[in-house]
Amino acid sequence: VMASMAHLQKEKLRLQEELLELQEKLAAQENNEMSLSLQMQGQVDTLKAKLLEQAQEISRLRSELGGTDAEKHRDLLAAENERLRQEMKACEGELRELRRQQQAPCRDCPHLQENAGLQEQLSQLQREAEETRAKLVELDLEVQQKTNRLAEVELRLKDSLAERAEEEERLSRRLRDSQETIASLKSQPQQIKYIIKTVEVESAKAKQALCETQSRNQYLQEQVGMQKQVLKEMEQQLQSSQKTEAQLRAQIMMYEAELERAHGQMLEEMQAMEEEKNRAIEEAFSRAQVEMKAVHENLAGVRTNLLTLQPALRTLTHDYNSLKRQVRDFPLLLQETLRSARAEISQAIEEVHSTNRELLRKYRRELQLRKKCHNELVRLKGNIRVFGRVRPITKEDGEGPDAANAVTFDADDDAVLHLLHKGKQVSFELDKVFPPQASQEEVFQEVQALVTSCIDGYNVCIFAYGQTGAGKTYTMEGTAANPGINQRALQLLFSEVRSKAADWDYAITVSAAEIYNEALRDLLGKEPQEKLEIKLCPDGSGQLYVPGLTEFRVQSVEDINKVFEFGHVKRVTECTNLNEHSSRSHALLIVTVRGLDRSTGLRTTGKLNLVDLAGSERVGRSGAEGSRLREAQHINKSLSALGDVIYALRSRQGHVPFRNSKLTYLLQDSLSGDSKTLMMVQVSPAEKNTSETLCSLKFAERVRSVELGPVSRKAELSSWPSQEHLEGDSLGSAAPPGRGHASPSPGHLSNRSASIRRKLQTSG
Ligand code: ADP
Ligand code: MG
Repeated sequence: VMASMAHLQKEKLRLQEELLELQEKLAAQENNEMSLSLQMQGQVDTLKAKLLEQAQEISRLRSELGGTDAEKHRDLLAAENERLRQEMKACEGELRELRRQQQAPCRDCPHLQENAGLQEQLSQLQREAEETRAKLVELDLEVQQKTNRLAEVELRLKDSLAERAEEEERLSRRLRDSQETIASLKSQPQQIKYIIKTVEVESAKAKQALCETQSRNQYLQEQVGMQKQVLKEMEQQLQSSQKTEAQLRAQIMMYEAELERAHGQMLEEMQAMEEEKNRAIEEAFSRAQVEMKAVHENLAGVRTNLLTLQPALRTLTHDYNSLKRQVRDFPLLLQETLRSARAEISQAIEEVHSTNRELLRKYRRELQLRKKCHNELVRLKGNIRVFGRVRPITKEDGEGPDAANAVTFDADDDAVLHLLHKGKQVSFELDKVFPPQASQEEVFQEVQALVTSCIDGYNVCIFAYGQTGAGKTYTMEGTAANPGINQRALQLLFSEVRSKAADWDYAITVSAAEIYNEALRDLLGKEPQEKLEIKLCPDGSGQLYVPGLTEFRVQSVEDINKVFEFGHVKRVTECTNLNEHSSRSHALLIVTVRGLDRSTGLRTTGKLNLVDLAGSERVGRSGAEGSRLREAQHINKSLSALGDVIYALRSRQGHVPFRNSKLTYLLQDSLSGDSKTLMMVQVSPAEKNTSETLCSLKFAERVRSVELGPVSRKAELSSWPSQEHLEGDSLGSAAPPGRGHASPSPGHLSNRSASIRRKLQTSG
């Protein structure tokens, strides 16, 4: 508002200045015009006086003209002409001056056009004056010529008059003489005759002379008449020149009238300009008034604004002052606060330090205790654990009685599962059972501890066992939206490794292999068809290795995804029917975690083997032939071998038959010693799959429920029921050799679990 007010005031000042300027200009113009009109009036007056003078002169001349003295008249005319010419010149000069003066102030006047018209008129008048002057000059010349002629004629007249007078004189003298002679002769009469004769003679002579003189006289008289005529002509010429003069006077009058008119026009223009000026002044005045009014209104608004702003300003100033005070005091306050805060912080740090020390001490003690407990637990549970996972009924199971649910669970015990098979309910107890609604996440939570132990240098095997379609691949691989153990395990490893990065350097590598018909193939290699061999390490450590098996170093989830995709693509391109093929081969994902403790230089190596086993269904029984039979035999052999090995391990037998299959041989390191093994037994709950489900669950329970005693160890030294035996069990036709405890009946189960719980209690 202040800015706009200032702007308006500035505008007002400018307008006032403009107004003043305009007024000054107008005044100057008025003055100019006034002086011009005065000048013009003066000129007109002088011209009038001159005209009067001329008229007087003319009348005088006219009165003097009676003298008919041509010479005098000519002189007078010449003088008059000269005077007129000079006046003309003066007039012209004045006119020029006038024009110049008129032009000067009216440069940007709107009446310029009218002025131009007037000027043109003036120039025309001038031209006319010029013409008149030329005529005058001409007339002058003529007068001169005539005067010259007149002078000549007069001279001649004078001469002839003088001659005549002389002649008359002479004649009169002779007459006198003759008369005297006559008289004398009369007085002398003798001689009269003679004398008369003489006189007569002499008178004849005189008479002749007289005649001559008379003729001469006649001639002279004629001459005089001629001269008179010339004089008359001259008078006529004079009259004509007088006429011209009158004409000239009339022209002058005309000029005067013109001048009068121009003056009138000028006056009118002046009037009009005056009016315009007045109007402009009025307009400017009214505009200025309106603007002033607006400015006043603005001012009033601004004033009210200012009035309303003043209290706010006051409070602001107050606030500002208080803030300023605060700011001034702030450094001191800050220093004070900082000092106290520093003291507090150092005290707190001290306290935290001592607490930390105490905590660290406690933590170490707890850690040792936990390790001890863990070892104890592991010892009690054994390194081999068996989980069961029941998949939900899917669309593929179809509809009707075949797709009915045959599996139920115990609400109080998450390790127990009941299967309704051929009208009989059979119960099984495993280490844990996942119902159909268990999520991948939940499953992985149970597996997590195993996976992380791999970082500490333990070897771990996780197997998915079960008939085709029971959910092995789903559990191990999962779907893109809901990944299984494989990807989750690697993610966990990455995050664990990252959290330990301060002290440890870890390298995680991944290999993918497949065992089909007892042939090991590299899924990440350049030549997947190539069969790989398992060999003993040449360093004598007794460890096994697979020459040519590709290992990829992975550092992120993206890397794993790439590896999985790569392996998957290999598998897909290699077989015409992936589903069938995958169900008849074991798929292995081998993750190796190598660690280096930077402070101690301690090195650890842990292996995590994630195995999606071939379908455990009994193909061979249905009279399969050729390659199908061969596949079935291989699968049967390798799964039996795995069962044997696990059984042997769990019952702590001296000899473990690792070499009975490629799978167990390859995993020897990861199954023996303090390695940890998890068997995830997948089952389908559908009615039509109950016999296969029964087989799978029997396998699970047998793996798990091996008695851990020296007697049983010995007793089970070389016996593990083959897949065929499992079938036999399921049908309940023949009793398995020496394995009464495994017969799945509710009574058995409760007795056995009670005995195990007892055992746990006593050893705990
Ligand atoms: P397998 O590998 O044992 O032959 P799959 O893992 O291929 O069996 O599973 C067969 C079908 O059942 C697949 O379509 C899979 O998505 C589905 N499936 C298996 N387990 C589950 C589960 N826990 N929840 C949902 N669907 C499952
Ligand atoms: Mg599968």
